[in-house]
Amino acid sequence: MSEPILRVEGLHKSFGEREVLRGIDLEVAAGEVVVVIGPSGCGKSTLLRCLNHLETPTRGRIWLRGALLETREPEVDRQRAHIGMVFQRFNLFPHMTALGNVIEAPMRVKGLSRTQAEERGLRLLERVGLLDRKDEYPARLSGGQQQRVAIARALAMEPEVMLFDEPTSALDPELADEVLQVMQDLAREGMTMVVVTHEMEFARAVAHRVLVLEAGVILEQGPPSVIFTRPTQPRTREFLRKVL
Ligand code: ADP
Ligand code: MG
Repeated sequence: MSEPILRVEGLHKSFGEREVLRGIDLEVAAGEVVVVIGPSGCGKSTLLRCLNHLETPTRGRIWLRGALLETREPEVDRQRAHIGMVFQRFNLFPHMTALGNVIEAPMRVKGLSRTQAEERGLRLLERVGLLDRKDEYPARLSGGQQQRVAIARALAMEPEVMLFDEPTSALDPELADEVLQVMQDLAREGMTMVVVTHEMEFARAVAHRVLVLEAGVILEQGPPSVIFTRPTQPRTREFLRKVL
């Protein structure tokens, strides 16, 4: 098998006395879609935040395509540019248009000219179905549209992997669907993705692997067809009964 895009070994994360991640080992292959599920507070966001350097692990190591994630600032910024992240709250810059949001980082971090960045930005807005809204400010866009701009903005950095932290949980169902559709297209095009979500239909349709996190450890993992129909752990069954 080719080198994994992400490799996590013995990841621990504590906040004060509280150990939130208690030894996570994980590999994500190129083009793989991993959906992470688990009860509230089990450490899903903390795991993604460690993958994206937003939290520093207490112990353990993370590699991005064979390169150890560093904790020193210049390397952190450089490596973070290869990891796209989409949050539950859309976090768009409110004073910038949709296109402005998408071109900002490529110009500032990657040094693209405005023309180059706009060319890329327009292509990405088209890809998420929002070319006609390019000049709108976030406040004039629906939640689903804002989230699609956020996805385009992350893609503008040409990331090697995309992390999604409950990207649709703040959205009404029909708006969630348009975001899930964009994510599904992205998966089909071969993007490597780690997705925290409660959208079990999406997981069933798109995930190559479902990972069940509980109390900071991986309880079990496997293809959705197995995890959703015959999980081995009673705690997984209990969790699925609540969300399915
Ligand atoms: P999940 O995303 O699965 O709901 P989180 O990763 O957000 O869980 O949180 C796991 C646990 O870590 C929770 O108990 C939460 O309160 C705690 N936690 C998360 N971030 C911090 C922080 N910055 N400081 C202290 N505790 C935190
Ligand atoms: Mg969370």
